[in-house]
Formats: sequence, C-alpha cells, structure tokens
Amino acid sequence: MTDFAATRALFHLPEGVLYLDGNSLGPLPLAAEARAARVLRAEWGDRLIRAWNDAHWTTLPARVGDRIARLIGAPPGTVTTGDTLSIKVFQALAAALALRPDRRVVLSDSGNFPTDLYIADALVQALGRGLEVKVVAPEEVAAAIDDSVAVVMLTQVDYRTGRLHDMAALTARAHASGALAVWDLAHSAGALPIDVTAAQADFAIGCTYKYLNGGPGAPAFIHVAPAHADVAQPILAGWFGHDAPFAFERDYRPAPGVERMRVGTPPIVALSILDAALDAWEEVDMADLRAASIRLSERFIHEVEARCPQVTLASPRDPQARGSQVSFTHPHAYAVMQALIARGVIGDVRAPDVLRFGFTPLYLSEDEVVRAATILAEILDTGAWDRADYHARAKVT
Ligand SMILES: *Cc1c(COP(=O)(O)O)cnc(C)c1O
Repeated sequence: MTDFAATRALFHLPEGVLYLDGNSLGPLPLAAEARAARVLRAEWGDRLIRAWNDAHWTTLPARVGDRIARLIGAPPGTVTTGDTLSIKVFQALAAALALRPDRRVVLSDSGNFPTDLYIADALVQALGRGLEVKVVAPEEVAAAIDDSVAVVMLTQVDYRTGRLHDMAALTARAHASGALAVWDLAHSAGALPIDVTAAQADFAIGCTYKYLNGGPGAPAFIHVAPAHADVAQPILAGWFGHDAPFAFERDYRPAPGVERMRVGTPPIVALSILDAALDAWEEVDMADLRAASIRLSERFIHEVEARCPQVTLASPRDPQARGSQVSFTHPHAYAVMQALIARGVIGDVRAPDVLRFGFTPLYLSEDEVVRAATILAEILDTGAWDRADYHARAKVT
C-alpha cells in the first residue's frame, strides 16, 4: 500500500491552507527546493558551461521523460520533455497530420482546453491544404469518426467538468477508420493510472505543473508511439532535435525516435526542479492513488451535497467517469471562490459558473476535504461571498 502520509511529508504545505487546486498548480516539493539551489550554485554557478557534460544536462530531457513514461504506461525512450504544452500540441498534431496526408479533418470536442483548439486552428490555417478542425460534443466524438478524419485530438480529462474519455475505446475507433489519435494528458498524468501503450495512443502530450508538481511553467512532455517515432516529422526542426546538434550541419536531419521532438536548448533549471518533483512518485502505486482519489472526491461530493443545496454537481456522478477533480456550478462562482480563498480553501473557477476542486492524495487528506466542504457551506448559508471585493476579478482565476 502506498504510504500517503509519507508522500505528504515531501511537500511544503503552507499553514492554514486547504489546497484543492493541485490540478492547476501542484505545491512545492521540498526536494525541488534543494535541487534548485544545487543546480543554481553547484552546477551553473561553479561548473558554468562544463555542466552540460559533467552535470549531464544534455540528457536531462530524456531522463525526466523516462520518469514520466513510467507514469503514463509508455516504454522507456519514448517520452521527451521541454517547451510548453501548447508547443507540444502543435508538434504532435502536425506530425500526426503529416502521417495522414490524404485526410482533411482534425476531430476534437467542445470540452477541450482552448489552447489545444487555438493551436489546431492556427496549424490547419498555416498548412493551408483544405484541412478543417471539427469540434463536436464530448459524447458525440465516437460517432463523428469517419474516413475523412485524419486525427482525433482529445484531452482525456475535461478541464471544466472532470469528465473522462475512454482513451482505449476512442483510439481503437480512430484506428478502425484509419485515423490517428493524439491524447492530451494534462489533467491525467499523476491523476490516475494511464496506459498509453495498451490504449495504442499514437501521440500523447501533457504538462507537468499540475498533478506532477513541477512548478509554474514547468516543461511539457511528449510521447510518440514507437511505430511512428522514427518517421514522425517534428515540424519545429530545432537544432536540439537534430541527430548531431554539435556537428552544426547546414541541413536538418532528425534525431532517432522521440528525441526529434526536442526543439531548442532545454530549460535546465526547470527540468531539474521537475526531476526532483518526480521523486514523490517513486513509491506510489497508481491503483492506490486512484482509489484514494476516488475516496476523496466521493467524500467531498457527499459532504457538499448534504450541506450546500445552492450548488449543482457539474461532474459525472460515476467516479469511474471522472478524472481527479470535481466541479460544482453556482451563479456567483467567482465571488464564492474568493470567499473560500479568503478562508484558506483554495480551488479555482472556470468561466462562467464553475467552482473547481482538485483531489491529490499525495498531500490531501479526507479530513481536509470535509473541512473544505464545511467552510463552503458556511459561506453559502451566510451569504458571506456577496461582498464587492469578492466580485472584483483578478487576471488569473
Ligand atoms: C493546462 C492545459 C494546457 C496549458 O498549456 P500550456 O502551454 O502549458 O500553457 C493545455 N492544454 C490542456 C488540456 C491543459 O489542461
């Protein structure tokens, strides 16, 4: 059994805070703090440029990639890290489209995160060969897969509602009609067991600052299935994805395998912090994590529904159909969340009316979840949320 008291001790958790937003920005792992200090002083500071070789900076994207691979069911050597998720969406989709040159549709769903759809729109426009991004309701994706579809591009867990797509079933459906599947695991990696190999995902991408606790703006990851890894075109043909970056050849030759999805100089400080953050997963059994996550989210739903008739569950009721977050709607969600945050309960809101709470067994206890529900009930019962300053919107919600 995974010892969640032990994993909790690995994090800096500020006094007086009930943190239900680890799905948006994970907390600081203590090991990351120590590692950052070391990479700054002992590596960059003392070794200067020599650290590329003697502190093994050049292989860090792949080594961190291998640690993420284990969490998403990918074989070693099939995941690399760097850039941001938006860039990895662009690369994965472009590579998938290039593998299906005679098809014209990118199929996605209306629950997908806006940046994924913006990037798809812009890419399709830039490629300019009659391609089209088609967006259907999440429950209509399977039926919309036909032989015009080149790529099915989906986010497994809906950022607003937590609704979970069946990755294996939809990928099988895509393959049966000759399409490829690109899966965004932003809200899945570190949230639930994932097996991209069993699901036969062609490409998988994700960010690492949510459930993986890599820190604000932490590098993204990309997995390319072995069958495509040596033929996929990286589109962003940067020198770090070249077979021999330090040969400084005039012409681009992609590196073998997923390494070609690297672009430029890797963000070593951020990657080092992420590497240290991944230590927290060493002793975690993902089946235990899933069971604990469901226990926490079910308890939260139960407590909120028993105490707060003012809010409505916006997530699937069946825990097997959810990721590791739960949403409720309230007409004044923004002000309610500000009142919660003022009382130390941190979740977030997604426009227009969604109160969103993330469940992260690595450092969140059932007792905290109950206390958060109690505080929500107090705020709603007393109307304490209805204050001018709670209605004033900040830039980041
Ligand atoms: C969080 C998230 C992003 C964010 O992309 P960045 O480039 O890291 O800002 C993209 N897609 C999905 C599905 C997300 O959940």
